[in-house]
Amino acid sequence: MKLVTRMFKFTRSQFLRQFAIGLICVFMIAACGPSGEEATETTEGASPETTATTLTVATEPAFPPFESQAEGGGYEGFDIDLMNAIGEAAGFTVEFQSLPFDGIIPALQAGTVDAAISAMTITAERSQTVDFSRPYFKAGLAIAVPEANTDITSLEDLESKRIAVQIGTTGADQAAEISGATVSTFDSAPLALQELANGNADAVINDAPVTLYAIQSGNISDIKVVGELVTEEFYGIALPKGSPNLETINSGLATILEDGTYDEIYQKWFGDDPPELPEEAPLE
Ligand code: GLN
Repeated sequence: MKLVTRMFKFTRSQFLRQFAIGLICVFMIAACGPSGEEATETTEGASPETTATTLTVATEPAFPPFESQAEGGGYEGFDIDLMNAIGEAAGFTVEFQSLPFDGIIPALQAGTVDAAISAMTITAERSQTVDFSRPYFKAGLAIAVPEANTDITSLEDLESKRIAVQIGTTGADQAAEISGATVSTFDSAPLALQELANGNADAVINDAPVTLYAIQSGNISDIKVVGELVTEEFYGIALPKGSPNLETINSGLATILEDGTYDEIYQKWFGDDPPELPEEAPLE
């Protein structure tokens, strides 16, 4: 019996040693791999300093007119043009990275992206985990209902109703506060709006400009926006806490707000003059 145990131990430790060696090999290969790839990716003669002026910026490209996938590849929208213009003004290039909206803050915290532009509302809660640029857009939440509906016109009318929202958003937070409501969450705003159009929800709480754009562009039919805006919200570019890029982004934003570039981009996507923006978002 003893012998068997010892033999077993022996084989086990042998196995462990082999396993450890294997693991070390894997780490060594992994350590060599990416740096080799990076080296081939950089353009000829590019020094590490040049590559450092490229910021990886996360976005969830299913929120038109702020960000969506362009037909010929790449991304388009107000946020995309704005971020590129900020980069141009502040001297960095932007590499967008598509992420689910509720994965953006975790990615910023983990430092796997340098910044995020995704129609993200500056909130007190989010400000505890990420840094925000100065506000770059004034928005708010709107209630959408089926075209034929006549009894929902305000938040109070949503009690005990079926509400569809996008996960991790301020709209989802708002819906969670309505008593008796059944809230269903979706990965993207278009999916929540489709649920409403299909008759499987009584209302959607979502950013007004996005819901209005979906209706106007014909992407979703048979729904309408009712009542007043539920909230006033300001979008900000989010960065990891303490990021040295915050100042660069704020100064680029200040430049394009001053030289008319911001107004041009606003006109392009909203066909109107932009409203006044506060220097800081009012937080509760
Ligand atoms: N503005 C909303 C929020 O920050 C929704 C953003 C989005 O879905 N991209 O929660």
